[in-house]
Amino acid sequence: MKYIVALDQGTTSSRAVVFDKTGNIVASHSIEFRQIYPQPGYVEHDPYDILQSQRDSLRYAVQKAGIDVLDIEAIGITNQRETTIVWDKKTGKPLYNAIVWQCRRTADICKKLIQNGLGERIRQKTGLVVDAYFSGTKLAWLLQNVPEARAAADKGELCFGTVDSFLVYNLTGGKVHVTDYTNASRTMMFNIYSLEWDKDILHMLDIPESVLPTVCDTSGVVGMLDPAILGREIPIASIAGDQHAALFGQGCTQPGMVKNTYGTGCFVLMNTGEKPVNSKNKLVGTIGWSYGGKTTYALEGSVFVAGAVIQWLRDELKLIDDAAQTEEIAKSIESTGGVYLVPSFTGLGAPYWDMYSRGTLVGITRGTGRAHIVRAALESIALQSYDVISAMQRDSGISLEQLRVDGGASKNGFLMQFQSDILGIPVRRPKVVETTALGAAMFAGLAVGYWNENELKDVWQEGGSFNPNADPETVKKTVEKWHKAVQRSLAWEE
Ligand code: ADP
Repeated sequence: MKYIVALDQGTTSSRAVVFDKTGNIVASHSIEFRQIYPQPGYVEHDPYDILQSQRDSLRYAVQKAGIDVLDIEAIGITNQRETTIVWDKKTGKPLYNAIVWQCRRTADICKKLIQNGLGERIRQKTGLVVDAYFSGTKLAWLLQNVPEARAAADKGELCFGTVDSFLVYNLTGGKVHVTDYTNASRTMMFNIYSLEWDKDILHMLDIPESVLPTVCDTSGVVGMLDPAILGREIPIASIAGDQHAALFGQGCTQPGMVKNTYGTGCFVLMNTGEKPVNSKNKLVGTIGWSYGGKTTYALEGSVFVAGAVIQWLRDELKLIDDAAQTEEIAKSIESTGGVYLVPSFTGLGAPYWDMYSRGTLVGITRGTGRAHIVRAALESIALQSYDVISAMQRDSGISLEQLRVDGGASKNGFLMQFQSDILGIPVRRPKVVETTALGAAMFAGLAVGYWNENELKDVWQEGGSFNPNADPETVKKTVEKWHKAVQRSLAWEE
């Protein structure tokens, strides 16, 4: 037996997962690391924490799997996106903490770009809405605020990278400075049409091109694992941002296929084929993956508060003891009795983009009880996803045939059935729910000939499915009422 190992470098933990040829998990290991909050709105990681937890999880996972290192055919990397690191080219030493995607410190830089009328120009090139999430303004901030970084950049001795880039640099013993198309497409410096770093945007942000990594295929060998780590060299054969890897791991390889990950928030991605879609509904255009001279594009939309609304029921309202309970409670009643909860605790994302919307509970009567509120919370996760998916259908002109799901809250059968009812299409959950790691393994396996594209079709296996089973009139009314509730929540904060 031969194996592929995926390294899944996430926001709160680093994981390594060993897969066999059938796509099943042989073993995995996960290590959490420190979140650093230097001041409100700022989020950082220590790059060494990222590196060490990832290296250790690789060693432990291989140990747990009880396999011979010689039988590892390749390693694939997937990562938290947009998080920004700079290091010294000569010594490999990071010159500042990693600025995490969630960090809002560059909101003012973004505001200025928008005030200067550059928002639309940037969107036309990168597919992205100008926002502090993306790496470009984080790198600009580092160059403006960390004298050591500026000095190294002036000497041509600075490396910038997202987490994938930093990992590969270190896992190959400092031999390569690369990233892939998916990660590049999240930097707000990469032109997703010409597939090059965009000189015009680099000029706007005052970023020298010499600091940027070489952009490589998502599936392809970029270097060899330093033998000091596992005792032998192993090809590092893929790099992909986490949501992109999940789209691939969900087998969404045909245009129009969509996956939704139900975690703290929801991440919806639609494969839009070989041409980028210019969104008219405030979704983000991105690169799904690119290899073998072919680029597949995607549309992306996210829901800020999804599983988090369940945590809120548990931790703040104390209506439940644990998340799984919500399924039984929701099923104990026929409907929410007209109650709607819009959980816009931090504003609303696509397709509304209203930062001033706030959480709203409407339709309450004397008969409203705990179960109605719990059910309304679950329904709000599906209704927000419905809004994003509807916008995707309008943007792409493609109507969905099915929705593939994963993430913690996708375990909830009530939620999945309701999602299917509202969308009017089947919802399909895979057997292997670690789709991010699986996608990274699939990209790596493709690169080294462990799998071919045909064999990959069998790797995605269904673990559960939900078919629409609701009266269309009821669905229509539910959606209309939901939109009315959303309207009530908008522009609440001044
Ligand atoms: P993340 O990767 O964002 O940390 P996970 O994919 O681990 O998220 O999912 C965790 C989220 O899913 C939590 O917000 C939790 O409230 C929610 N969740 C977990 N199990 C259930 C369930 N059975 N029903 C509804 N929500 C759930």
